[in-house]
Amino acid sequence: MLYKFTAVVTGGAGFLGSHLCDRLLKEGFKVVCIDNLITGNIDNISHLFGNENFLFVKHDVTNYIFIPGRVDYILHFASPASPIDYLQLPIQTLKVGSLGTHKALGLAKEKKATFLLASTSEVYGDPSIHPQGEDYWGNVNPIGPRGVYDEAKRFAEALTMAYHRYHGIETRIARIFNTYGPRMRLDDGRALPAFIGQAIRGEPLTVFGDGSQTRSFCFVSDLVDGIFKLLLSNEVEPVNLGNPAEITIKQFAEEVIKSTGTNNKIVYKELPVDDPKVRQPDISKAKRVLNWQPKVERSDGLKITIDYFKKIIKA
Ligand code: UDP
Repeated sequence: MLYKFTAVVTGGAGFLGSHLCDRLLKEGFKVVCIDNLITGNIDNISHLFGNENFLFVKHDVTNYIFIPGRVDYILHFASPASPIDYLQLPIQTLKVGSLGTHKALGLAKEKKATFLLASTSEVYGDPSIHPQGEDYWGNVNPIGPRGVYDEAKRFAEALTMAYHRYHGIETRIARIFNTYGPRMRLDDGRALPAFIGQAIRGEPLTVFGDGSQTRSFCFVSDLVDGIFKLLLSNEVEPVNLGNPAEITIKQFAEEVIKSTGTNNKIVYKELPVDDPKVRQPDISKAKRVLNWQPKVERSDGLKITIDYFKKIIKA
């Protein structure tokens, strides 16, 4: 029988993690999914139970990770990842970014596996450079409410590079920009599920601040494709993955109203502390080294996501 690579996905029951488990299985890997389910959801992976190449382990990766046998790849995606989640779970967020990354890297060292860190555009903070290229070092407030996530991920990047330099581990760092699609949580507080949920339920859409802040939304299948290409590449230094199509949050709310065929109003609420004013990935490096760029138009991605949320809200 042909040898199958084994990949461990921490946070594998989360939004991105579960799509990665699907992709890795489709590519012929065996997958060990680890999640403590504090923000992950078993429904995201329930379709994989019974697949002989898939194993789910309920475990908090801030504690020692034991996996018997060979492991070839480790994709470290465990972390609360939406502003509401990391504001509600600040200590867990700091712990999983620091202690959890340490444990996952320790596993990579033990197994001589390639390690991929799910980092974030939040390492750039409220950026003074636009769009953000990988050589920008960021503008982060360490003691603000978002600091628990931003600094944990910055520490995780530093630890990953240290394991690469001092232990010779094969490592990859993906700086992931706003991503959306099916399996996002409706209540994670992010703009996209919030707006779609509000539009479907006939409620006003809550735009924070005056809505002039910008974001760039990448559809999940594109993002997963970029992660997979990065995993199999030789690129050790960080690579931005996201969709450069930038839009203001107000325009985005209007787009959701149009795409859901509703007629809801927009209401304005207070802007959260340290909310970045702009965010757009410079993806020239991903294009160059991975031959990757997003393909899904926002109008198409939104339609798929709206259909998904309609089913969730009806159920
Ligand atoms: N936002 C909003 N209304 C909401 C939720 C979020 O206007 O109900 C804004 C938020 O302040 C931010 C942008 O939308 O400027 C994107 O927020 P999100 O929570 O999706 O993630 P972020 O990009 O800030 O990590």
